[in-house]
Amino acid sequence: LMLVCFPSCQNCGVNSRLTPAMRRGPAGPRTLCNACGLMWANKGTLRSPLNAPKMTVQHPANLSKMVR
Ligand SMILES: [Zn+2]
Repeated sequence: LMLVCFPSCQNCGVNSRLTPAMRRGPAGPRTLCNACGLMWANKGTLRSPLNAPKMTVQHPANLSKMVR
């Protein structure tokens, strides 16, 4: 139900409360955030997920090196 009340961008995952407007995407209306929706409308493509603000998971091997 929370997903229905506050949908998030299907491309970059930003919450709809954090974007000026939800826009139409390939999956339907209001499935993309403002930035992704504009790019989809203008270029017919979606932003690369690499540019999206996402949490990165640190590999345990790297953490053990730092602790040592
Ligand atoms: Zn987005």
